[in-house]
Amino acid sequence: MIRHLHKALLIVDVQNDFCPGGALSTPQGNKVIPVINKVLDNFTFIIASRDWHPRVSVHFNKWPEHCLQKTKGAEFPKKLNSNKFDVILNKGTRNIDDGYSAFEATNINLKDLLKHNNISELYICGLTAEYCVLSTVLDSIKNGFTTYVIKDAVEGIRQNKGDFEDAFTEMEKAGATIITSEDLKPTSGITQNISLN
Ligand SMILES: [Zn+2]
Repeated sequence: MIRHLHKALLIVDVQNDFCPGGALSTPQGNKVIPVINKVLDNFTFIIASRDWHPRVSVHFNKWPEHCLQKTKGAEFPKKLNSNKFDVILNKGTRNIDDGYSAFEATNINLKDLLKHNNISELYICGLTAEYCVLSTVLDSIKNGFTTYVIKDAVEGIRQNKGDFEDAFTEMEKAGATIITSEDLKPTSGITQNISLN
């Protein structure tokens, strides 16, 4: 039986370089890992994005080098259950773009992927609140998806005091619903046929 899908989980950029010890680390980025591992069971369609930068990129005029393609820094942390990911999106892959939003992925068109799979609700989490999560949430709303942000599964760079909370205020103002992992209901073990085109 093929059931109509309605919701998907989108994990933004939980990569070694954004975790403590990484090239562009968040102070507490690794805190999201156990929360995300827990919420994976609530979804039958799981998408993860990753920064996947070339060595030379305009992006590095603003940021230290991070998440270079095929390097350890770009990998998902070992403790994250990435074997459960159905689709991996690569973004920031050219030297001309920042690729903050998962909707800017260059290997797969995220909007089309969601439409083809009857997804209307997107649950977003990951790193970092102020940049890639924020941009992805704003694009999700712009593209007409009902957008939830799982706040305890999001961490930030926290460059300035208040940045982290300001990001959530902006997401909420744009129309996102901020929830926590406790608000999610388990999905009853139904497997899905996922279409990639
Ligand atoms: Zn980047």
